[in-house]
Amino acid sequence: MRPLGIYIHVPFCVRKCGYCDFLSMPSGKEGMDDYIFALIEEIKGYGEKYKCEGSEYEVKSVYIGGGTPSLLLPDAVGRVMDSLHETFAFANDKGVEVTLESNPGTVTMASLNGYVKCGINRLSIGLQSANDNELKTLGRIHDSAAFFKAFDMAVDAGFENINVDIMTAIPGQTLNSLENTLKTVTGLGCTHISAYSLILEEGTPFYEKYSSKEGLPDEDEEREMYHFTVSYLERRGYLRYEISNFSLPGYESRHNTAYWERDDYIGFGLGASSLIKDTRYKNTAIMKEYIMSPLSRDIFSEQITLSGRDRMAEYMFLGLRMSRGVSEDGFKKEFLTGIDGIYKNELDALKRDGLILRDSGRIKLTEKGIDYGNYVFSRFL
Ligand code: SF4
Repeated sequence: MRPLGIYIHVPFCVRKCGYCDFLSMPSGKEGMDDYIFALIEEIKGYGEKYKCEGSEYEVKSVYIGGGTPSLLLPDAVGRVMDSLHETFAFANDKGVEVTLESNPGTVTMASLNGYVKCGINRLSIGLQSANDNELKTLGRIHDSAAFFKAFDMAVDAGFENINVDIMTAIPGQTLNSLENTLKTVTGLGCTHISAYSLILEEGTPFYEKYSSKEGLPDEDEEREMYHFTVSYLERRGYLRYEISNFSLPGYESRHNTAYWERDDYIGFGLGASSLIKDTRYKNTAIMKEYIMSPLSRDIFSEQITLSGRDRMAEYMFLGLRMSRGVSEDGFKKEFLTGIDGIYKNELDALKRDGLILRDSGRIKLTEKGIDYGNYVFSRFL
């Protein structure tokens, strides 16, 4: 059976952080009820369609992301999970990774116990920094004490697989303060760490505030923080399996790995994206349209059918994000042609510049290639 990932978008947060350009809005109980109702209608409607079209699918992972999904009561999460189980064939339940994103300050012992009962077996906690001054700068609602409490409660609730999101290149951050964050998360023994750099996104308050770049780590400092993070985490047994993702052995995120491997996935909810049989869909980002008509994907969504060349480009730049890189045999199997027949000039140039290496039938980014990742990926477009 073909593997399928499911993404559920929960676009609600307590308040908007100054740097955030994710599709999220302040929560209000009424809006959330309507949203869950629409979400379940969409799952049941489109789920039926995909079940009929492709009974070859088997759900391997579910990711409830946002926004702040931990603002949902377990009852709402349970109803969403029930609708998924009613609609899709799941792989043997124990093998299915089911993640819920949470923020410290929005979980309680009761809600975490409730999520476990709903079948959530992986919790992702958005810490960003263990330093209260940096959390304040970012405009987060929590402090480090709230994070410790949330982590302890998650362990008590029975979560064995916990990701912690951290951030680098925060205004005012230093290698010392970053070390404190890394020490904190590794000390707690989480199984997975995602470490992304702050990016100034157009249209956010941070974009205006830091337009002169004053107060922000410069490009060299940002790279230094990245390399510091990699070596700190690897010394403590967290393997970098993707440019910004680290895990203890065996705890790589299955859901995200499926994105990088271009497995099919369906996204439900506001603005959610899907990849089904080489067509990419994106739901409407307008709440009113979504709530009124959650099954009108054909009216309100964008749809792009990928050409053979698009698929090859995605295969390359998504595959290169992973430490194991791209398999030359895998490319041949997928596209019935050798990789050099398509990308010889690009690969030769990137190798000459020390940005990739070719070894035992695999192509990988070098450390320099990671630093110039966007340039490398652009060579395949
Ligand atoms: S909690 Fe996350 S999704 Fe919500 S506003 Fe802050 S950064 Fe954005």
